[in-house]
Amino acid sequence: MKVTFGHMGTSAMIFADLLNNLGHEVVKPPKPSKRTLTLGVQHAPEFACIPFKIVLGTYLEVIDQGVDTIISGGGRGPCRAGYYGDLHRRILESLGYEVDFIFFFPPLKTPVDFIRKISRIKGKNSWRAFGHHFRAAWEKLMALDDLERRVHQIRPREVHRGSTSRALERGLAYLREAAALESIREARQAALETVEAVPHVPEREALRVGIIGEIYVQLEPFANFDVEEILGHMGAEVRRSIFLTQYAREDVFADGSKDIKRLARPYLDFKIGGHGQSSVGEVVHMARQGYAGVVQLAPFTCIPEIVAKSIIPRLSRELDIPVLTIFIDEQTGKAGVETRLEAFMDLLWQKKGRRDKKVV
Ligand code: SF4
Repeated sequence: MKVTFGHMGTSAMIFADLLNNLGHEVVKPPKPSKRTLTLGVQHAPEFACIPFKIVLGTYLEVIDQGVDTIISGGGRGPCRAGYYGDLHRRILESLGYEVDFIFFFPPLKTPVDFIRKISRIKGKNSWRAFGHHFRAAWEKLMALDDLERRVHQIRPREVHRGSTSRALERGLAYLREAAALESIREARQAALETVEAVPHVPEREALRVGIIGEIYVQLEPFANFDVEEILGHMGAEVRRSIFLTQYAREDVFADGSKDIKRLARPYLDFKIGGHGQSSVGEVVHMARQGYAGVVQLAPFTCIPEIVAKSIIPRLSRELDIPVLTIFIDEQTGKAGVETRLEAFMDLLWQKKGRRDKKVV
């Protein structure tokens, strides 16, 4: 198979490696850019959400390189993600491209279908060899998550602006080169040490700011205008509500985090698709953990996040935690996002100043 898939943040390199190791020819999706979005917007229905458009644009950027199979995933339930594969396929067909789609649904809901599709990806490899390659990819994903968590802590305390991001790039390169399990562990260690070596002031005060919302706009920096980096440079120690390995454990191979669902229940006691219920539960969780504020990232027209947004003002009042919602579509510009984040951070610092004064 000559395969490609949608680009979603730093994990893209790991999926490409996994597919390569399984013997497929991989056309690696490029990092999304303005061109990607323009292509997606040109061919997607106007009211499709931004992840749909960026992923479609990505397919169109690489499909002429002989791609015959596209691998993708999506949900089952009230949100539109379940129709993405079909709609992407139909749009590509209408443009004259005949490609096969391997579209994964949550394994708990369609186990037989899931195993059938995994078998296709496994190809001629034995299950043992497949397990080995999968384990290596999982180790890399875990290393990636650890690395990003540490970056979130160091960035607001760095001495030279941008040095943590540069160290992250070097760390990613180590991980990219590692193949065997042992070398992945060594690469993880080397990557963490590289980030640790960034000159920083550990005792510098930073505001803990949570990031919640839909998975694609949380994990793909192009879609969120590098929100983690912007906030880090403004003195925020960010914590995303979604990391891929934790998401796989809690949401793909289980029915969502029980703790977060329990916290959401008094305000929203059923699943509404996407990450709507988790966004509500995460705000409660972050407020209880003493976070200074929360940024909700929501694709424009994303119903689960719109529902969560309608509940958030009440949470914000009752739990005394400011929440900034940023709706994202193709009209959203980086400068506007930066200005809003700057104003939000000013508000959080002021709020903290008032609270500190009260304590004195
Ligand atoms: S969760 Fe929202 S953005 Fe994601 S597919 Fe569903 S509607 Fe679209």
